[in-house]
Amino acid sequence: MNRKVIIIGSGPAGLTAAVYAARANLKPLVFEGSQPGGQLTITTDVENYPGFPDGIMGPELMDLFRKQAQRFGAECHFKHVSKVDFNQRPYKVWVVDEEYSTDTVIIATGATARLLGLEAETRLMGRGVSACATCDGFFYKDKKVLIVGGGDSAMEEATFLTKFASEVWIVHRRDELRASKIMQQRAFDNPKIHFHWNSTILEIHGTVESGVSGVTLLDTTNNESREEACDGVFMAIGHIPNTSLFEDEMELDKKKYIVTENGSTATKHPGVFACGDVQDSYYRQAVTAAGTGCMAAIDAERFLEEEGHS
Ligand code: NAP
Repeated sequence: MNRKVIIIGSGPAGLTAAVYAARANLKPLVFEGSQPGGQLTITTDVENYPGFPDGIMGPELMDLFRKQAQRFGAECHFKHVSKVDFNQRPYKVWVVDEEYSTDTVIIATGATARLLGLEAETRLMGRGVSACATCDGFFYKDKKVLIVGGGDSAMEEATFLTKFASEVWIVHRRDELRASKIMQQRAFDNPKIHFHWNSTILEIHGTVESGVSGVTLLDTTNNESREEACDGVFMAIGHIPNTSLFEDEMELDKKKYIVTENGSTATKHPGVFACGDVQDSYYRQAVTAAGTGCMAAIDAERFLEEEGHS
């Protein structure tokens, strides 16, 4: 059966596109991917999504998005797309050997946490190294942890970790934070948060059996290294767009984000639209992702109308 709309991804962008496409009677099929609900499912309180003056938990918010899309007839499958072909129409999407054909595709695959690239980082992931304070913070009760990064994520996660850890040290490669002033101030005002300025992590020490025991830090001002004991290391150094599936199909910018037409979600393939963090390295907010998800569904609906499909 040929579909009118297939949506790849189920964060705020994908599920908002699903709400709009379903309400336009396009019966969207949503492939939710390996992290259904997207990045907000590994967040705690979302305080800046309009309409929730007391905040809402990330996973709960995404459940509400999904329910709303399903209420209007969106079909959501917990499946991971393994291949696409946008070179001929109808377009093709595969989930391993299951083949789907569709008139339009909305790409909303989001972005994933960046890592430093150290050997120990992957070896000790889940054994003292983490890229998600919300998921793993609980395991660090009364422990000393480091968090790498100087952006809003690092400040937010450091603040969150103080609910459990006895000491939280932010390791930042410069002497000035990138985070917004309000998030910086929250971190500066927290007596459990301390800073290693002008520092990067050269190595993480520990074993799979006993976890992390410490790190070697490099002082970027004089290139001197020093040892620092700790029980956990959290990475908060930004994100990489989830575009590996589209490398041969789509135009990507130098940071590998999908290129969309200015002021629209259209890509170089007619009928293929991209929304949310996969095409936005700048705003990267749930509400902006939801906004572009809405745009993508409207773009898809108008495209189908113009082509006489609906
Ligand atoms: P980000 O703003 O890109 O910050 C990444 C941080 O990691 C920077 O401080 C960067 O250092 C550092 N970094 C990057 N690569 C590194 C490396 N290889 N080694 C050491 N440090 C490295 O990413 P983010 O904090 O994830 O935030 C992304 C976007 O989401 C931002 O627009 C942010 O405002 C938004 N956000 C908002 C909230 C909120 O409002 N509640 C929460 C989280 C995120 P430099 O500063 O030296 O480049």
